[in-house]
Amino acid sequence: MRVQRDFFARPMWEQETICENSWCPACAEADIGMLDPAEFEEGGRVFVEGRCARCGGSIRTELTESRASE
Ligand SMILES: [Zn+2]
Repeated sequence: MRVQRDFFARPMWEQETICENSWCPACAEADIGMLDPAEFEEGGRVFVEGRCARCGGSIRTELTESRASE
């Protein structure tokens, strides 16, 4: 089950960092950039999905949130 989250509630620096640290399987290249990011939670994991800034293909990044202290 997907739970929609508000990506834009994150601080600007974090949004930029997440969008910059992208991986596009079609381009087979990292850090191209991501457009139209949308955040959601699935199975206890958090993802940001968007489009590759170069080819426009669908890309997804898993966020590793700092839950080490929990
Ligand atoms: Zn691409």
